[in-house]
Amino acid sequence: MSGSGTVIARVSLPRPVRQFFHYRIPDRLRESAVPGVRVSVPFGRRRETGLIEALVAASEAPGVKLRDLHRVLDAEPVLGDELLELCRWVADYYVAPPGLVFRAALPPGLLGAASYEPEESRRQVIEIVRELPTLTERERAFGRARRQREAYETLESIGGRAEVAHMERRLGFGRGILAGLADRGLVRISLETVDRDPFAEQDPGDPPIELNARQQQVLAGLSDLARQPEPGVAVLRGVTGSGKTVVYIRLMRDVMERGRGAILLVPEISLTPQTVSRVRAEFGDEVAVLHSGLSDGERRDAWSALRTGRKRVVVGTRSAIFAPVRDPGVIIVDEEHDGSYKQGETPRYNARSVAVVRAGLSGALCVLGSATPSLESWALARAGRWTALQLPERATPHPLPEVRVVDLREEEGPPPRILSAKLRDALAERLERGEQSLLLLNRRGHSTWVSCESCGWIAVCRSCNVSLTWHRRRGRLVCHHCAHEEPSRETCPECGSPTLTYSGVGTEQVERHLVEVYPDARIARMDVDTTGRKWSHRDILDSVRRGEVDILLGTQMISKGLDLPGVTLVGVIDADVGLNLPDFRASERTFQLLSQVAGRAGRGQRPGEVLVQTARPSHFAIQRALVHDYGGFAERELADRQEPGYPPHLRLANLVISGRDDESVEAAALALGDWLEGLVAARPELATTRLLGPAPCPIDRLRGRWRWHLLIKQPDAGALGAILRFTSSHAPVPSGVRLEIDRDPESLL
Ligand code: ADP
Ligand code: ZN
Ligand code: ZN
Repeated sequence: MSGSGTVIARVSLPRPVRQFFHYRIPDRLRESAVPGVRVSVPFGRRRETGLIEALVAASEAPGVKLRDLHRVLDAEPVLGDELLELCRWVADYYVAPPGLVFRAALPPGLLGAASYEPEESRRQVIEIVRELPTLTERERAFGRARRQREAYETLESIGGRAEVAHMERRLGFGRGILAGLADRGLVRISLETVDRDPFAEQDPGDPPIELNARQQQVLAGLSDLARQPEPGVAVLRGVTGSGKTVVYIRLMRDVMERGRGAILLVPEISLTPQTVSRVRAEFGDEVAVLHSGLSDGERRDAWSALRTGRKRVVVGTRSAIFAPVRDPGVIIVDEEHDGSYKQGETPRYNARSVAVVRAGLSGALCVLGSATPSLESWALARAGRWTALQLPERATPHPLPEVRVVDLREEEGPPPRILSAKLRDALAERLERGEQSLLLLNRRGHSTWVSCESCGWIAVCRSCNVSLTWHRRRGRLVCHHCAHEEPSRETCPECGSPTLTYSGVGTEQVERHLVEVYPDARIARMDVDTTGRKWSHRDILDSVRRGEVDILLGTQMISKGLDLPGVTLVGVIDADVGLNLPDFRASERTFQLLSQVAGRAGRGQRPGEVLVQTARPSHFAIQRALVHDYGGFAERELADRQEPGYPPHLRLANLVISGRDDESVEAAALALGDWLEGLVAARPELATTRLLGPAPCPIDRLRGRWRWHLLIKQPDAGALGAILRFTSSHAPVPSGVRLEIDRDPESLL
């Protein structure tokens, strides 16, 4: 039957294997079985849903008895030629199973296991109806009802309004406690319709703005490029508040007037509500917003609206790079340096790199915008391979804020020294003047380190080699890497003595400290613990914007893209949190974080001030951030990475070997190291490869698995790809041990 002239279907199934599966096409399906449609196929004794990746000659699957396709599920391909090609590139470059790439590119439920959320649009909401501004009132209101007070203060810290289910399930306050608050007349519990599309009723967008000279120049440059047959990539470096978003929107408009579509990627929708609503205000019904708050059904609706051409613009997070926008003329990646563009699980793609490739496939201009571009992008722009454009000044009346450093080593008094005298005074000044302050600490919980003074015991996770964080309000010790948590302890489990010490300050502790120091201040906290509910970010930010919050405290969440004109002071509690991580991006991440958070100050009518607390004031990442000197930072950091051989000088892959038994993991890692050395030595064209390790990962045990890793460095991207693909198919990996390949890793932990 399958003579050499016959055409068969090469099918991809959503399984963690890098191979394709071949099927015969029965005559009745000849017409409909085309690349990009989903098909139902026999697999073992079951039926599975797969995707026809290509039609190939039967000779591609010689000597195999092929089975028939069972059914074709789509009248039109769900992935057009361009997106198929893009997915093939992702699978090839990141050495990922193609079926998992296709699944990631499609809306949930189209390939493989469907994951439907229950559609629930009416929920119980609890809301504060009586504020207790002073400590005295608080004491009077609660008396000895400690848990009620905790519940009330938790609710306050998350913006005064939350779903009852969130308070109960995530924060651990029972129905009785919440009902008690209602009885006291402090809160109201009601059934409310939760709005489905919170961006639908956002602000009306930018008033018509006259672009300044610099912005006009940049826009003209970008528009010119977008008209070229091969526009390439432009890196737009613009300081915070320079008007990058204004320029993006004009550029998208320009491209759409020529009949093409547009894609705008943002790091995290909930953290960039303003960008989204501005795009929404400009393009109205033509824009689809793809964000994590959508139900599967809404996501599929948005996806088909783009596929059929009813909508021509998408704004969304990482996976929106696969959105079926027709004929995109521009693909913009906002805050292109952001780590959230990298997917942390297979397929481990970086949406920024995928954007560059997709733009190339569709003849679109790719714009990578940031105040602090990634060094990878910056190096290519500097070398002239990509176009470099700059907006060096703020568009608003005030220049970038003045940044000053506070040397924590000079602070007096017993630890924990959370607020230096300078920061305390600066906060008090703002409170007096009725201005708002932002405080950053990139560490949540109360204390990040619990140990016994008598015997040296340390509270660590039973599945991960990391210390547990004490969450005081919830009375739990929590692992921030897995789901594990346990009750707090009064005494040491090893020696029984009551000498436990709590150190390492987190946001929860800062919040308590602030309440003590400024009893009359209205304080809100924004971190993972207070933003479990879908729109709690927005609720917190809204109350800040309405002037109902004096001090907003939070993790890196508060550093991104926010335009809060009332904020005149930004304080960084501890700039060294990320600086001390054993990771080659530690300096870069610190510089980015400080620059971003400093950019939140003084965006309104009044000038801003930034205070950075650190015990390493002379570190260049901090020094350069103080003077807003990206160029100087990049130069030094590029030089520092030259010798150890890190990106962008060399291309990097992190191979992680993990398993439940530590000895077999170690043995497998050593064997893989030897095997790779043999491979590289046997091929002269790979002589420039550098192998590092194997060695235990900085976090050498995670979710019950022991972990070793090995770094491969290569000057040539093609050669690295060849090594990785060969390794993935041929390297010895014993059963019980897993090998994960992370190409262009964002972190080596
Ligand atoms: P970025 O995206 O670079 O942070 P935005 O586009 O958000 O900058 O602009 C920052 C602020 O400056 C916004 O409030 C915006 O409306 C305002 N703005 C930008 N360009 C101009 C301009 N040419 N004239 C007046 N205001 C401007
Ligand atoms: Zn002890
Ligand atoms: Zn853990």
